[in-house]
Amino acid sequence: MKVLVLGAGVIGATTAFFLAREGHAVTLVDRQPGPGLEASYANGGQISASHAEPWAGPSTPARLLAWLGRDDAPLQVRWARWDPALWTWGLRFLTQCPPAQQARNLRTLVRLALHSRARLAALRRTVDLRYDALQTGILHIYRHRRSLEQARRAGEMMTAAGLDRYPVSVEEAVAREPALRAVAPSLVGAFFSPGDESGDAHVFTRLMAEHAGRLGARVLCDTRVTHLERGQGRARDRIVAVHTDQGRLEGDATVLALGSLSPVLARPLGLRLPVYPAKGYSLTLETRGYDGAPSVSIIDDEHKMVFSRLGDRLRCAGTAALEGWDTSMRPARVALTLRHARAVFPRGGDYDDPRPWCGLRPATPGAVPLLGRAPGFDNLLLNTGHGTLGWTLACGSAQIIADLLAGRAPAVSLP
Ligand SMILES: Cc1cc2nc3c(=O)[nH]c(=O)nc-3n(C[C@H](O)[C@H](O)[C@H](O)COP(=O)(O)OP(=O)(O)OC[C@H]3O[C@@H](n4cnc5c(N)ncnc54)[C@H](O)[C@@H]3O)c2cc1C
Repeated sequence: MKVLVLGAGVIGATTAFFLAREGHAVTLVDRQPGPGLEASYANGGQISASHAEPWAGPSTPARLLAWLGRDDAPLQVRWARWDPALWTWGLRFLTQCPPAQQARNLRTLVRLALHSRARLAALRRTVDLRYDALQTGILHIYRHRRSLEQARRAGEMMTAAGLDRYPVSVEEAVAREPALRAVAPSLVGAFFSPGDESGDAHVFTRLMAEHAGRLGARVLCDTRVTHLERGQGRARDRIVAVHTDQGRLEGDATVLALGSLSPVLARPLGLRLPVYPAKGYSLTLETRGYDGAPSVSIIDDEHKMVFSRLGDRLRCAGTAALEGWDTSMRPARVALTLRHARAVFPRGGDYDDPRPWCGLRPATPGAVPLLGRAPGFDNLLLNTGHGTLGWTLACGSAQIIADLLAGRAPAVSLP
């Protein structure tokens, strides 16, 4: 089958590889000069099934109110802007907050993340992939009893869904990751997920595109998709062509993996995808000459920060702001990320040269990605809206798209 994969972020590039491996004639298209140069570029680097608790939960609306107008809020919403997409997304977010709905979303995400982790492990056994990978688990640290208790409740749901995750004392956490010694006096407890991993998502994305190319896929960079053409009459449920600034492409099937831009290209087709950009920041510190960088990946849930060791670098990433598609960096948010990172790992790396970056997570209201056939279309598949967990979910999502195209039942069914 001829398949067009639109978007060469971690989702599109991984999908292109999984499809090429099954013998499809794949064309991977991206507007950037190379794969993985947008949200997948300098993310937190975690493969974190244990981070599957959706933002939308019973306590979130009150927290959002408390954070209104605060520059140091972990999750910032700029309601004051007139942005109908944000308000519509916000209303749908509220419908995902009741406890039963959050629990449903969490279970779906854990299942998809575990499926994805297993697909990634299988992939590593057959393809030589070097992306600063560490399989040393992920530690979640907590400073307040209330957050620890909330994490325990979420953790129970995650373990019920099959995740390996257990509580550890502060002493055990420090024994596992001595670089936590500086922050230990302010901690009240931790959780450990031994099966979680970390690595460089951008390198992984590039490798996926390269390996897809070796299997015969065409990788078209510097190629901007302008619109998707729907058939007429009886062919109305088909995409008959994809138009780009470099010309027209045709395929038997098209996979939409344009990250936070997916709703913009889908809208003229009558599809209103509930995906909104959630801007996050990262710093990448050189660790050579510093003795306080962790080797175990860390999640600091209260500050919404994650830390991953990538060879001689420490990636510190986090916070979220719902403020549209603007990709400029706000100095206050960079300073906040720097402050949080330094507080946890004061000797973690070269804070004089922190190499800041920001990217737009393609967030859905309930955090569950849009994965499967687009409503009303026979040959258009969605693989988008992976929010905070794009890399974590990439291999499982790619496998599901490959299963659907092959007529196989996917291992995880999504709502
Ligand atoms: C600060 C931060 C930390 C994160 N940490 C983690 C983490 O630790 N673990 C994890 O699993 N996830 C993490 N994420 C989330 C993860 O990075 C995203 O979910 C993931 O990168 C989304 O991948 P994507 O392929 O859908 O989107 P993208 O990587 O944005 O890819 C979409 C691609 O589509 C292309 N495109 C868009 N429009 C067009 C067009 N018109 N024509 C052609 N091409 C187009 C873009 O150029 C882009 O390459 C983090 C995100 C951020 C911002």
